[in-house]
Amino acid sequence: MKRTIKEIANWLSIDSKDFIDTVVTGVSIDTRTISQGDLFIPFRGESVNGHKFVEQAFEKGAAASLWLKDEPNPPKDKPILFVDDAEVALQQMARAYRNQHKAKFIGVTGSNGKTSSKDILASMLTPFYKVQKTLGNFNNQLGLPITLLNLDEDTEIAVLEMGMSGFGEIEFLTKLAKPHYAIITNIGEAHMQDLGSREGIAKAKFEIIQGLNQEGILFYDGDEPLLQHLVGKETNLQSKSFGFQGTNDLVATSIETTEKGSRFTVSGELNGEFFIPVLGKHQVKNTLNAMLVGKSIGLLEEQIRQGLAQVTLTDMRMQLVPTEKGILFINDAYNAAPTSMTAAIQFVQTTSLREDKWLVLGDMLELGENEKQFHEQIASVIDESKISRVCLFGPRMKWLYEQLKDKFAETNLLYTNEDYEQIVQFINQYADDQSLILLKGSRGMKLETILKSF
Ligand code: ATP
Ligand code: MG
Repeated sequence: MKRTIKEIANWLSIDSKDFIDTVVTGVSIDTRTISQGDLFIPFRGESVNGHKFVEQAFEKGAAASLWLKDEPNPPKDKPILFVDDAEVALQQMARAYRNQHKAKFIGVTGSNGKTSSKDILASMLTPFYKVQKTLGNFNNQLGLPITLLNLDEDTEIAVLEMGMSGFGEIEFLTKLAKPHYAIITNIGEAHMQDLGSREGIAKAKFEIIQGLNQEGILFYDGDEPLLQHLVGKETNLQSKSFGFQGTNDLVATSIETTEKGSRFTVSGELNGEFFIPVLGKHQVKNTLNAMLVGKSIGLLEEQIRQGLAQVTLTDMRMQLVPTEKGILFINDAYNAAPTSMTAAIQFVQTTSLREDKWLVLGDMLELGENEKQFHEQIASVIDESKISRVCLFGPRMKWLYEQLKDKFAETNLLYTNEDYEQIVQFINQYADDQSLILLKGSRGMKLETILKSF
C-alpha cells in the first residue's frame, strides 16, 4: 500500500498532528521480517511485549509504529499512532484499505486444499494479471488483514486464504475481505473437535458467502452432498460446482499421472484436455476451481491451458523428491487429516510411477474424541496388495498399527514412537531405485525430517 500517516490516522479515527506526511508502504508484526516503510504493529502477549521491539523496528526502516495507549514510555520524535487494541486497529486499517482497493478479491476456504488451490489459481493467473496471494498460511484474523494491507496499489487480483477453527471465523474474514469470488475446496474432518460434525464443518465454511459481493459467485466441491444441500437452500446465490461427478458444472475425467504431473479431460463449462505439473487426483480437483474462477474472470480456454502448464506449488504438498540412491519420495508432510491422508494413499496405490510402494505415516492431530476411530479407519484405505511396506510414527499411529498387524508381514511393517532414525534405517535397509515412498502426517510430526538423511 501507499498511505500517509494522516490517511491511516483517519482510518483509525485518531487525531494526529505529527509526521502526517510520512508514507507507510506496508505493515509488519515481526521485526525479523520487517520491510523498509512498514508500519510496525506491536502485540502485547503473555510472554512477550511487542513494544520492546518498536525501537528495533525503526532501526530496521519502519516508517511508523502503533503503540497501545496504556503502555508507558512511547518513543519520542517518531511517527507513533496511539491505539486501544492492536488487533482491532489492524483489522480497521485492513477494512479501510480493502474498501479503497480496485482489485478483484478471491476468498478460498475448505478443510483441505486451501493453500494448494490458492497457489494453483494465483500461479495460473500470473501470466495475465498482477496477482498477489496470501503468503504461507497467513489465513486467520491477523494474517488476512496483514495480507490485505501488504497488497500493492496496482494489484489486479488478490487470492486470499481463509482458515478457521470454529464458527464465526470465516464470517469475520469474508466480511473483511468482501470477495468477488469465493471457493470452498472441500469438506473434511479437520476441526471436528470444535464443530461437532461434518455438517457443522460445512456450515462453518459456508459462512464465506456472507461477505460475498452482490454479483459474487461461489465455487464449491459439488461432489460433497453437504455443500449441495447448503447451496440448494440459497435463493439468491450465484454458484458453480466442480468435481468428479457428472452433475457438476465442471467435471474432470480420465486423470493420467506421469512423473511430471497430471493430464486430465474436463467437460461442462470448459472442454478438452489440460495438464498441471502437480501430482494427485485431489490436486486436479483444486485445479478445477481455479479453472472456473479463471473463466469467470475472463480468461480464454487457451489462456487457462497455458496458465496451468506453468503452475508451481508451495513446498511439501505432493512434492516429488528424488534421492541419490534412486528412491523417489513424495513429500506431503505439510499436514494431514483423514481426507487428505486417504487421498494421498490412494494416489500412491493407483499411480504407475513406481512398483515398490511405501507409506510413511505420522499422527493426525486435532481430530477430537473420535481420533482413535479416524486412525483405525485408514486401515481400510490401505490395500496390502499394492503397498509393500508401511512405517508408522507417533502415539496415535499405534491404533492404525493394531489394524495393520494382520495384513502385513512383520518385516514389512514398522511402528515407532521414538525417533525418525528407526524409519531411516528401515528405508535404508529395504528401499531402492524402484521405491516410491509417501511421507504424510500432521505438521507437528515433522516427517520431512526423514529427508535430511537421504
Ligand atoms: P491448512 O488448513 O493447514 O492451511 P490447507 O487447506 O491450506 O491446509 P493444503 O495445504 O493445500 O490445505 O493441503 C493440505 C493437505 O491436504 C495436503 O496434504 C494435500 O495433499 C491435501 N489436499 C489438498 N487438496 C485436497 C482436496 N481437495 N481433497 C483432499 N485432500 C487435499
Ligand atoms: Mg493452508
